[in-house]
Amino acid sequence: MLKTDLTTQDYIELEKRHNAHNYKPLDVVLERGEGIWVWDVEGRRYLDFLSAYSAVNQGHAHPRILQALTEQAARLPLTSRAFHNDQLPFFARELCEMTGYDKMLPMNSGAEAVETAIKLVRKWGYKVKGVPEDQAQIVVCTGNFAGRTTTIIGFSDEEQYKDGFGPFTPGFVTVPYGDSEALSAAFNSNTVAFLVEPIQGEGGVVVPPEGYLRHARQLCDTHNALLITDEVQTGLGRTGHLLAAHWDDVRADVVTLGKALSGGFYPVSAVLADAELMAMFGPGDHGSTFGGNPLASAVGRAALRVLIDEGLIDNAREQGAYLIERLQNIGSPHVEAVRGRGLLIGVALKASAGGARRFCEALKAEGLLCKETHETVIRFAPPLTIGREDIDWALERIERVLMMD
Ligand SMILES: *Cc1c(COP(=O)(O)O)cnc(C)c1O
Repeated sequence: MLKTDLTTQDYIELEKRHNAHNYKPLDVVLERGEGIWVWDVEGRRYLDFLSAYSAVNQGHAHPRILQALTEQAARLPLTSRAFHNDQLPFFARELCEMTGYDKMLPMNSGAEAVETAIKLVRKWGYKVKGVPEDQAQIVVCTGNFAGRTTTIIGFSDEEQYKDGFGPFTPGFVTVPYGDSEALSAAFNSNTVAFLVEPIQGEGGVVVPPEGYLRHARQLCDTHNALLITDEVQTGLGRTGHLLAAHWDDVRADVVTLGKALSGGFYPVSAVLADAELMAMFGPGDHGSTFGGNPLASAVGRAALRVLIDEGLIDNAREQGAYLIERLQNIGSPHVEAVRGRGLLIGVALKASAGGARRFCEALKAEGLLCKETHETVIRFAPPLTIGREDIDWALERIERVLMMD
C-alpha cells in the first residue's frame, strides 16, 4: 500500500512514534519528485532548492538513472567484493577518466569515503613518509563537516556533534578555515595530510579567500604531505566546475566524492587517488559489503553520464552566477552577505533577522523548499538542471520573503 489518505500531521505523528528524533525537518511530507519539483502528500508542489544536500544534482527521478537502476536491479544488485561484477570496471574507468585520477575506491556514504581517505593517508604516512608509529597528524579546519562517524565527529568543532560521544580518535589538528598563516604553522614532520572542503557547505557555505587552496597545495608539497579535498558536497558540478578545486587550478592527491555520485537514487561514494598512493591498500586492508556493487556502479555510471550529456556543470556556473547576482541586489534589511559559487549559495542573515528557520518556513509556504544551516544561513542549492525561468520564479518568492518584517 503506497498511497494513503493520511494528512501531513498524521505522517509526522506516525514518524515521531517509531523513529529516532535526530532531525528537525520542515513540516512537509513529500511523496513524489520529478526534475526540480517535488509534491507533498496533500498534492502541493514545491521547487526543491536543497536537492537533498546536493545529492540530487541531476534532478529527482532522472529517467536515465532510473532506467539504469531498474535494469541493474532486475539483473544483479549485489555480489559483494568476494567476486567481480561486470559494472564496477566501467564505473571505475569512467569516473577516473572524467576526473583525471588513476584509481578509485568505491564506498557508500560520504562519511565512509572520508574515513577511507583518512586510512589511506595515514598508511602512506607510515609506509612512505616514515612517520613514527601512531604519530601521524592530519590538519583539519574549523567549521568542517565530513559526516557523523565517531572518528569524524572527533575532529569537528561543533559542540553538539560531539557532546556525549567521546572518547575521540587522536591525530587531528584544527586550524581556522581560510587562514593561510595558521595553516603554515600547523605543519610539522608528522603531518601526513591536510583535509579541506574547497567550500564549506554545512559550515554555512563559506568560500575561503582567493589563493587559499593554492597555498595549501604548496604547503603540502613543501612538507611532503598529502592534500585531501572533501568534495562530497562541492563536487560533480555543484559549484560550476566538475570539482570545486578546479576554481583554483588545484589538483588534490586524494578526493572524496558522494552525494550526487548516484543522482540521489542510492548511496554511492568514492575516493580518488593516483596509482602509487592507492597501492597503500592491499587485499584485506579495507572494504565494504555494498561498496562497488553492481547496482551502485550502474547507477553511478548513469549519474555521471547525465552530468556531462546535459551540460549540467556549465549550467550550474551560468545559472549560479545569475542567481547570486540577483540575490546580492535584493536589498533586504535582513541579509548580511550572499556567498557561494555555482549553485551552492548561502544567504547569511544578520543577527537581527531572528534566525534562518522562519524564512525557510515562509519560503515553504510560497512553494520553495530550502533549509537553514548554522541557524543564520539559508542555503540555496537547486538541482543543476534548473533553467532561467524557474530561477526567476524562485527569485520572485525569495524577494518577497526576504523583504518581510
Ligand atoms: C554530506 C557530507 C559528508 C557526509 O556524507 P554522508 O553521505 O552524509 O555520510 C562528508 N563531507 C561533506 C563535505 C559533506 O557535505
